[in-house]
Amino acid sequence: MTKLKNIIRPDLLTMKPYSSARNEFTGRARIFLDANENPYGSSFRGVTGMNRYPDPMQYELKERITRITGIQSDRIIIGNGSDEILDLLVRATTMPGRSNVITVPPTYGMYRVVAETNNVAVKEVLPGDDFMFSADEIMKAVDKDTRIIFICSPNNPTGILAPSEEVNRIVEQLDGLVVIDEAYIDFSGTEGFLQLIKDYENIFILRTFSKARAMAGARLGMGYGHPELLRVLNSIKMPYNVNSLTLAAGLNALDREEIYRSQVQRIISNREKLTGELGKIDGIRKVFPSSANFILVRVDKPVELYNYLLAEGIVVRDRSGMPLCEGCLRITVGTENQNRILVEEINNFFAGKPAGEQTDNQVVKRRRTRETDILVDINLRGRGIADIQTGSGFLDHMLELFAFHSKTDLLVRASGDIDVDMHHTVEDIAITMGQALNEMLGDRKGVNRYGFVMPMDESRAMVTIDIGGRNMLVWNVKFHDNTVGRVPASLFKHFFRSLADNAGFTLNIEAEGEDDHHIIEAVFKGFARSLKQAAEITDDRIQSTKY
Ligand code: PMP
Repeated sequence: MTKLKNIIRPDLLTMKPYSSARNEFTGRARIFLDANENPYGSSFRGVTGMNRYPDPMQYELKERITRITGIQSDRIIIGNGSDEILDLLVRATTMPGRSNVITVPPTYGMYRVVAETNNVAVKEVLPGDDFMFSADEIMKAVDKDTRIIFICSPNNPTGILAPSEEVNRIVEQLDGLVVIDEAYIDFSGTEGFLQLIKDYENIFILRTFSKARAMAGARLGMGYGHPELLRVLNSIKMPYNVNSLTLAAGLNALDREEIYRSQVQRIISNREKLTGELGKIDGIRKVFPSSANFILVRVDKPVELYNYLLAEGIVVRDRSGMPLCEGCLRITVGTENQNRILVEEINNFFAGKPAGEQTDNQVVKRRRTRETDILVDINLRGRGIADIQTGSGFLDHMLELFAFHSKTDLLVRASGDIDVDMHHTVEDIAITMGQALNEMLGDRKGVNRYGFVMPMDESRAMVTIDIGGRNMLVWNVKFHDNTVGRVPASLFKHFFRSLADNAGFTLNIEAEGEDDHHIIEAVFKGFARSLKQAAEITDDRIQSTKY
């Protein structure tokens, strides 16, 4: 512990941490009368055991992380986001008013914020024009009060991986802590520096559930380092820093590693495609190759482009004010469809097309019942932007198809007991979408009213629609199996009936084919196309002989 002795604030090495009720006993207990909790279950449904305090040391989650990373739990800290751990690191190592830390700009802004909050000075060492830094330059800035060097790899906002030789040299030479923030490492196709913590006591790695693991809302971060430093960090953190909901969410997500892996692959391939497409746009001067889930681009008029995109409903990050980032915007890699629309709009900007031609036809509806909580945000006259999370991957896929083919902007969030019974969730989504469509179409003035379509590949669907306000469903769809994509086949009829009832649509749907998946795809596609046709604005009259 030679280096750590100089790194950890000496008074903390012997400080007695707060002892929480759950830490004080060993052995098995059945009756917990130690923490002044309510002994009855809470009225909150979803996660059981909420009346009890969470495990202050998050042992179960750490055990799972050990299985994935091979890092033992005495080398792990779990935080309320990795931001919390950044703050703990500064507090554990620095003397307010005396110590300093080093950052390499442009980089993540929280290193400065946590340092300054603790009255710790920040020294910045600028890298070269290509954003590459050298160990020698950084070491020149080190003095006897330097406690931490923050390195972000891949770096935010550049997307560049830190060169490992330079990092190794810094770790070896520095009599202080090297914090390597690997929030975006999953997108880099490299292992990162995590395993180095076994060889060096002055290296600390930060990772998070917020990016590749798609859980920014849960606030869950991990830090890895030497057990002695970890002991101090754990002793100065708030006792119950990670709540039961977040812990349950983290464990639950780790049960589905395949979703995480496939999403990472998808984002990487979207990034490569987007990098290529942005590179083809004349007005973009430089596209920086990225190892993260965002891309930095340099343009002549960053503020104008930023505002143009915003007027089109697309928000990116203006980074042009950061050191070495003149003219730069940082663009997060989105879904295939979001990226397509982004590229289209950037092209429109450089082609001189006027911005802000979107019509504001958005309707937001929320429906909460005992079983479900549904949010639908819909704009039938949009551009096909879908953001759908129903809990059923298959239903998500169907609604994305619907959004794409009807050019509807559609956000759906559904939470309910989908594992037990999808019936309520499917029905409530259809009801909420139907109500939203009904409200959006209003008095139906000036719309085409009727739609007809027959999409065909090897499956054929015929969908006719009258959106005039009367509700009826004629359903003649022949499936071969009882389930399609793990959704009971009968639920699709139920979906369209609930939607037609609440939207005021007369729908006549026929479909057949060899493959159930293709049949239902044709139905959603057909519904989307015929609805689009029917909702088209023709003139300002109601298309009816009955006035
Ligand atoms: N590090 C970097 C480099 C980041 O960009 C971010 C978030 N933008 C964080 C850490 C914070 O992550 P968390 O959500 O785990 O607090």
